[in-house]
Amino acid sequence: MTTPPLWRDFKQNNRMEAYKCKNCGYVSYPEKRKVCPKCKKAPSEFETVTLGPRGKILTYVVAHTLPAEFESPIPLAIVEMEGGGRIYAMVSNCKPEELKIGMEVELDYREILEEDGYHVQSFKVKPVK
Ligand SMILES: [Zn+2]
Repeated sequence: MTTPPLWRDFKQNNRMEAYKCKNCGYVSYPEKRKVCPKCKKAPSEFETVTLGPRGKILTYVVAHTLPAEFESPIPLAIVEMEGGGRIYAMVSNCKPEELKIGMEVELDYREILEEDGYHVQSFKVKPVK
């Protein structure tokens, strides 16, 4: 059952909304917190910011064994976004052997899967050309 979590995270996924600590500037994504994970100020105040649109690959894995409905291999990366915040995303427009730590990528909004006639859209990242 994928619809409720996707709908719940709609603003975070489609608008790339994140939360910046007003005390230390740490950017939290995707969830809004009561205590800043960096400066530990509690309760901390956060302002809403928009992530990206670019970032750098901090680390990655290549998933080779996936359920049949997925095309594999799929590169998955943790990306440090410009302006702060980290996201976990599939990497598109890139062969697994082309991935590098530090590679510059940009957000790429597209369909990620089709399930029971529903087209599920979210973000991926792709190399900056
Ligand atoms: Zn903080």
